Amino acid sequence: PNLINQIAAGEVIERPASVVKELLENSVDAGARRIEVSIGGGGTELIRISDDGCGMTAEQLPLALASHATSKLPTDESLFHVQTLGFRGEALASIGSVSQMTIRSRTEADESGSELVVRGGVIDPPSPCGCPVGTVMEVRNLFFNTPVRQRFLKTAQTEKGHIVEAFTRIALANSHIHFVLNNNGKPLYDLPVTQRWSDRIAAFFGDEIAESLIRIDSDDSQIGVQGYVCDPAVSRGNARMQYLFLNGRHIRDRSLQHALGEAYRGLLMVGRHPVCFLRMSMPPEMIDVNVHPTKLEVRFTDGGRVYSRLLQTLRHHFLTTDM
Ligand code: ADP
Ligand code: MG
Repeated sequence: PNLINQIAAGEVIERPASVVKELLENSVDAGARRIEVSIGGGGTELIRISDDGCGMTAEQLPLALASHATSKLPTDESLFHVQTLGFRGEALASIGSVSQMTIRSRTEADESGSELVVRGGVIDPPSPCGCPVGTVMEVRNLFFNTPVRQRFLKTAQTEKGHIVEAFTRIALANSHIHFVLNNNGKPLYDLPVTQRWSDRIAAFFGDEIAESLIRIDSDDSQIGVQGYVCDPAVSRGNARMQYLFLNGRHIRDRSLQHALGEAYRGLLMVGRHPVCFLRMSMPPEMIDVNVHPTKLEVRFTDGGRVYSRLLQTLRHHFLTTDM
């Protein structure tokens, strides 16, 4: 089973940033209000994520590490109604099979917490430990037992960049959560909870960018489009500043990116990429998120409708906004 986990890990855990993404999603799913990430050596030496979420009991801990164990999937049918970010129950088993991982966790109902150690997929029985309510996941020496993976890793600086990107996506999608990121003992980001999404955008990309954006806010009976896009007349920023979120998770979607380009066609300087931070929402039955292991790509049951909804919303704003 460990070999199978390692193979599965290859799909889900490509690099340190994949670990950060999966663990952050779990902390969000656990209802955390504060999440702190610390990394060392580009994440290969150390990734530690602590949250103040619901935690796990001593009985739940080993289950969380079993392959395909998830507490988030009560029935088969609910695969089509995925609300939480994780729903496959593969991430922890995969990470545990290719690293040295320590989990400390405690629920509100428990007096003390428990600790569980996994090395290369070998799970020690949990032991009691003192810890606050919530969960601390510590992942050390990622890929220590999978040299092929190790060889594909880039420099610590590059891997850190990927981690920052994964962190950015999740922190942007969840401005109701306080996020902290430390790199080699030094604070990189400290993002308090905010009601205004533009505050969080500014924390990552600067006040100048945030203040130059136009607000989008549009709802029809099913599809909501909220957020900020660049003023076609004042385009600042670069291609990196394109973030699309669907029902609370970051996605990449060629068709929606195309719609964005179409909305700006003839309005932006040639070669300019429209900056955008958009949150779309729609009923889960309009989406199939189960097409890619990392869930970055989605499939819409009516792609054409979503496409034109985004295009029309942006066009409408450009026509009615005084620029
Ligand atoms: P999934 O997220 O798809 O359910 P994971 O392997 O990522 O699968 O996690 C397995 C299970 O471990 C989760 O379903 C959840 O019950 C538990 N878990 C993982 N991380 C946390 C956390 N930070 N807080 C509380 N429970 C967690
Ligand atoms: Mg998960």
